[in-house]
Amino acid sequence: MRKTLPPIVLLLSMFLLSVGARLTAQPASSAPATQPAATQSQTAQDSYQLNGDTLRNAIAITRIHHTVALVDIAWGILTLWLFLSLGFATRLERFCQSRFHLRFFQGALYYTLLILILTVLELPITLYNFHVDSRFGISVQTWPSWFRDQGISLALALTVGALLMLLFNWIVRKSPRRYWLWGWLIAGPLMVFTIVVSPYLAGLYDKIEPLDQHHAELATKLEALVARTGTNIPRSRMYIALLGAKSNGINAYVAGMGSTKRMVIWDTTATRLPDDEILFIMGHESGHYVLHHLPKMIMLDFFIVLIGFWLTAKLGEWIHSRNASKWKLGEYSSRSGFTVLLLALSIVGQFIAPTMNVVSRHFEHEADVYGQEAIHSLVTNPQQTAVRAFNALGAAWLEDPNPNPFFEFWFDSHPSVADRTKFAAHYDPWANGGHGRFFAK
Ligand SMILES: [Zn+2]
Repeated sequence: MRKTLPPIVLLLSMFLLSVGARLTAQPASSAPATQPAATQSQTAQDSYQLNGDTLRNAIAITRIHHTVALVDIAWGILTLWLFLSLGFATRLERFCQSRFHLRFFQGALYYTLLILILTVLELPITLYNFHVDSRFGISVQTWPSWFRDQGISLALALTVGALLMLLFNWIVRKSPRRYWLWGWLIAGPLMVFTIVVSPYLAGLYDKIEPLDQHHAELATKLEALVARTGTNIPRSRMYIALLGAKSNGINAYVAGMGSTKRMVIWDTTATRLPDDEILFIMGHESGHYVLHHLPKMIMLDFFIVLIGFWLTAKLGEWIHSRNASKWKLGEYSSRSGFTVLLLALSIVGQFIAPTMNVVSRHFEHEADVYGQEAIHSLVTNPQQTAVRAFNALGAAWLEDPNPNPFFEFWFDSHPSVADRTKFAAHYDPWANGGHGRFFAK
């Protein structure tokens, strides 16, 4: 899932949208990526290596992404703070009350305009990110196509975001003391719902066609992987996402639940990577399913969200009690009062996300182990296959071989490509007559 929704909507729905999105092959970095995969030498390799321009670009773009991420966080908090302290929230609320008699429409207008205003204020950063990705060749998208995607994101943010805010605001009004608890309880079903519908959302952005039509041989190989892993995804639910005109990145994922469960491979991946490496990537993705990472992650994230909502409530109430008269705000359950809660969430959210990342990195590593074991009987050299796949993935997304540990800990949902490659190069449970963690043979 693209990170193009306005930050506040992102925060509010972070726990909903991020779960499904994080189980993709795309490594750590939040921005999409780049450069044709480095040409791979046929000699054995045991680490993640970039050379020349690719290395210089990876270091440069990583530095830019980190700086922009920090600016983005500060800017997101600052804009909401100014919106409240300069009296815009109160004025906007009065304006909405003067337009409509019914409370529902007043609220719908307020949150729609709020999201629009925040999106416009965020626009310079969004534009800059796209500019950087284009400059480094990660994105090859044209401006009209990019604006179209932004339009889809905005439409989603306006409908889903405004409805979520209306719902949560209503809960605050109905239960001024325990709203954080009720809000948390409905977050669970919302998370599951998001995962079920997420495959359809991807279809809004990109054309998705049956893999069979484009790479029949690969589909046959994937059937062998499905048989070995027991994921029960028929050939008819293997798809190719046509992104070649937009991105140079490499990606693939398993999405959805139950009857919406499917494998999706970006066309860039299918055309550029050898089938063995794609099998490894899909083995990793299958691992997330077989090992029930999605439900486990939902459960863990669910508890992190409980603590997050409680802290948000406490912080929000504190900010409101200190500033309500100064900022001429309505009571806590009013729309301008609820905007204080959004400000608090945008602050607390900065700590929720890294906590979720710790959980995510654990599962990503487990999926790496699973993926490598899954291809054991299917490819000639699982270790080298995994090492080459990681090198291709890292080069495509311009991953820094020596990432800053703080940023890695704080922002990355996956272990660094360097760490994943190092592990893959030395993981061979079958050596000396042993057997895998997940597969006997
Ligand atoms: Zn993964």
